[in-house]
Amino acid sequence: MPLVSMAEILKDANQHGYAVGAFNVNNLEMAQAIFWAAEDERSPVILQCSENAAKYAGFDFLSNIVKIGASKATVPVALHLDHGKSVEACITCIRHGFTSVMIDGSHFPFEGNVAITKQVVDIAHVVGVSVEGELGRLGGIEDDVNVDERDAMLTDPQEAKAFIEQSGADALAVAVGTSHGAYKFKSEAKLDLGRIKEIKQLTGAALVLHGASGVLPSLIEKANKYGAKLEGVRGVPEESIKEAISYGINKINIDTDMRLAFTSAVREVLYTKPTDFDPRKVIGPARDSIREVVRGKMQLFGSSGKA
Ligand SMILES: [Zn+2]
Repeated sequence: MPLVSMAEILKDANQHGYAVGAFNVNNLEMAQAIFWAAEDERSPVILQCSENAAKYAGFDFLSNIVKIGASKATVPVALHLDHGKSVEACITCIRHGFTSVMIDGSHFPFEGNVAITKQVVDIAHVVGVSVEGELGRLGGIEDDVNVDERDAMLTDPQEAKAFIEQSGADALAVAVGTSHGAYKFKSEAKLDLGRIKEIKQLTGAALVLHGASGVLPSLIEKANKYGAKLEGVRGVPEESIKEAISYGINKINIDTDMRLAFTSAVREVLYTKPTDFDPRKVIGPARDSIREVVRGKMQLFGSSGKA
C-alpha cells in the first residue's frame, strides 16, 4: 500500500495505548530489515532518516527505496524526517514524498519554536503530511543537577499544552531524561515518568520519546568481542520503556540500537571469516541482526499484531 501519514499511525497508537517504533534508515539493507520485521510482526512502522542520512544516501535513493518497500508492504508505513533543522529541509522532504516531518525548534525560545513549527504545519497539512515538534532539551538526569536546572531542561507540561494548541503539531517530542547516543546515563537510568503522564493529561497528543535505545548489552558484548571498544555505554532499560508507554508515549525513536546491530554483525563476520570479501556476505548478517532487533522492539512497544 502507499505510504500513510504518521498522524494516521499514531492516532491508533494513542487511542489504544501502545507505541510505534521509528527506525532510522541509512541504506538498502536497513530498510529491508525494517520492512521484513514489520511483516513478521504484523506491526505498523515508521522509517525515518536525518538530513545527514538523506544526504549520505541521496534523497531520491532513500525515499524511493522506502516507497518501493511500502508499496509491497501489507502493514501501514510512514516515511519521516528526523530532526529537520529548517523549513527548507522539511519542504525538500515533502517534495520527495515523505509523509511526515519533524521540525526541531527546541533550541529556540518558546515563541520562536511555536512560530517555526506552525510554519511547517501550515505547509505540511495542506498536502496531508504530519508534523512532529520538540519542546525541551534532551539529556540524562544526573544526580548533581539541581531541581531548577532540571526543570529548565525537561519539557514543561503547561508549555507543552500551549505548544500543541498554538502550533497545531501532530506529535510532540518530549524531554524526560533520555538522551541521544550510546552514553545516556552516567549511572542508573532515570526517566521522569510523572512528567510524561502530566503532559499526556494536558495535551492528549501523541508523544514521542527520542534517545530511547536500549544500547542492548548483547550487541555491546558481541561488538567488543570482535574488536570494538565500547565502554561505559548505557541505554534505557526495557522496564522504563514499558512504563513510559503506559504513561502516554506513542512513538519511540531507535537509532543507536540499529547502528550497534549493524556494526556488531559486520565485525563478527570480518573477524571470524577473514577470507570472505563479498559485500553480501559481510552485510547480509547485519541485515538479519537488525531484523531481529526491530522485531524485539515491536514486541516491547506493543505494536506487534496491530496492523
Ligand atoms: Zn532525536
